[in-house]
This record gives sequence, C-alpha cells and structure tokens, in this order.
Amino acid sequence: MNIGTVLATASAVAMVVYVFRRTPWASRIMKAARSRPKVPAAAAVANTMQRRFPKPTQCVYWNNPELVRAAPMKEGFELIDTYAHESHLWRYLLKCRECGQLYFFEFYEWVDWEHGNDPQYTKYIPVPTVDDAQMLRKASQAELLLFSPSLNIDFPKDAEESTIYWAGKGSS
Ligand SMILES: [Zn+2]
Repeated sequence: MNIGTVLATASAVAMVVYVFRRTPWASRIMKAARSRPKVPAAAAVANTMQRRFPKPTQCVYWNNPELVRAAPMKEGFELIDTYAHESHLWRYLLKCRECGQLYFFEFYEWVDWEHGNDPQYTKYIPVPTVDDAQMLRKASQAELLLFSPSLNIDFPKDAEESTIYWAGKGSS
C-alpha cells in the first residue's frame, strides 16, 4: 500500500464518518452521548454506594461474634434508643457494655404465610456516632446490606440452626 492509497483510504473514511454524522439520527445519538452524564464503571458505583465504618477491633464481639447470642442482649448491651419495635422488625441503637462501641441493631423476620417457618435475620452494624445510626435508621433492609462491617445472625427458612458471622471483616 503506497502513501497515496493510504491517504485516499483515510479521506474516504473521513468522508463516510462526516456524512454519517450529518444524518439526523446520527446527530441525535451524538447529542445524546454528549449530554448524558458520564456513567461511572460498576466498581466505582459499588465503591460510592458501599459504606465502610471503622472496624470495632477493640470490641469483644469482633473476634468472638458468637458471644452476642451467648447471653441475653441486655447483659451485653445497653439500649440507647429504639428506632422500631414492631412484631417483625426491631431496630435499636445499642452500646457495648464492655467497650462502649455503638451498634445499629436490626432484627427482621420474614413472614412465611405458607409454612409459618419464618426466616429471621439479625444484624449489628458498628457505628462511630449516633448520627450514623440515625442515617441507618432510614435505610431499607436492602440498603443496610451496603454497610460494613456487620455482624449477622442468619436463620433462613430451611436451616437447622442459625449462622453467625462478620460480613466485611476482611483486610481491605
Ligand atoms: Zn465492645
């Protein structure tokens, strides 16, 4: 391919692009592309939506999560505030009696109309301040999943017993 052919090809391509961009529907696409806000990558969305609170490494429950169900709640925690107390949804602000760490607490029970075998989910989200708890208070169950770390006790419908674990405990 000599230089003349390259130039001819290049100008032909440029001409096609030029003509294409002048068509009404193409200009609509170009305009839409320009006016639409930049869509961030999925990872960036996940990062902005996820909220990580400081890890409560000083708290006895950090290394021994099973202790939260070893004793009645009032022995381990002081009830600071009640955000919800309905038959299937409890939301509290708790304070660890040992170290003073605040926890946003949620107990949620799905109603299994058919079998009466209601799945139950319990969540403790360590929060630095009361304001953070106030913010979580307004969050939906799905939105709460974006906050970590969280100590969870899951008792799904078909499970023999509940599972207790920290979500988001990893080193990142
Ligand atoms: Zn503690």
